[in-house]
Amino acid sequence: MKVGFIGLGRMGGPMAANLAKAGFSVTGFDVLGTVVDGVAQASSASAAAEDADAVVTMLPNGDTLRDVCDRIVSTARKGALLVDCSTVDVDSARHAHRMASAHGLLSVDAPVSGGTGGATAGTLTFMAGGSDQAFDAAMLLFRVMGKRAIHCGDAGSGQVAKICNNMILGISMIAVSEAFGLADKSGLSRQKLFEVVSTSSGSCWSMNAYCPVPGVGPASPADNGYKPGFASNLMLKDLKLSQQAAEAAGAATPLGALATELFGEFVGAGYGDLDFSAMLPHLGSMARER
Ligand code: NAD
Repeated sequence: MKVGFIGLGRMGGPMAANLAKAGFSVTGFDVLGTVVDGVAQASSASAAAEDADAVVTMLPNGDTLRDVCDRIVSTARKGALLVDCSTVDVDSARHAHRMASAHGLLSVDAPVSGGTGGATAGTLTFMAGGSDQAFDAAMLLFRVMGKRAIHCGDAGSGQVAKICNNMILGISMIAVSEAFGLADKSGLSRQKLFEVVSTSSGSCWSMNAYCPVPGVGPASPADNGYKPGFASNLMLKDLKLSQQAAEAAGAATPLGALATELFGEFVGAGYGDLDFSAMLPHLGSMARER
């Protein structure tokens, strides 16, 4: 099977390498001219898509996806499959589906969770939107690049699932950080708060698996000077996408809006490259408004 791979960055590079290792014939393109082991280099996005049975995109945002998609749909051969794994706004994802369908191509939006570690290890989770036929065809690729793929529904629903998950994650990390801040100022040890909450009704992934306190709970970026992990600027990107989708759908997301504001301030203060769990020391340094 021939695969075109467009966007060979921190995620796309290792994903393309895994496809090549698994025996797919992969031709890649990145505007930076990035070279990936086992992947042939094309001179443009449309050249990478020519002759491919499937084209995977892993790009930074919706505008770039629209631009690349407009370029490749006319060179890709009829019946080929487009798999967009980028995290983008729902409208851009649906635009890509419409363009694909107008040119006789199958398509899935399939954003991922698992980060760069999952991309390298081939253990990503894919959240996919599109027809049954497109999802079934994409399973061949998902099996190599990931360990789980969930068919969420029609065009765009993979993106909706991804931003809903990350909105919960952003809010829950703030909630956990606030609780530790309250415990600190009330004389309760951080270790004891962890022991209680991680086995009680306040337990959640941000507390149990990714605790923002150094030396408490399983190893996490907090134990490594808040080196990401999942950088705050990526969290902010996903929170903004959640608010864009909520606005378009008319959904009330007051905590999502507040989380977006708080991460916006944090990133604006120059901490975008720190892990998003560094919200803990940030909130700890803030004074209570009375
Ligand atoms: P990245 O910036 O490292 O990679 C994006 C790549 O796309 C870059 O190499 C860039 O040069 C290339 N690119 C930009 N415009 C292009 C064009 N017109 N044609 C070809 N290539 C182009 O970003 P990343 O961390 O690999 O993330 C990619 C996507 O995955 C983003 O949408 C991000 O939100 C999502 N994501 C990232 C993570 C993570 O932990 N990094 C986790 C989950 C999802």
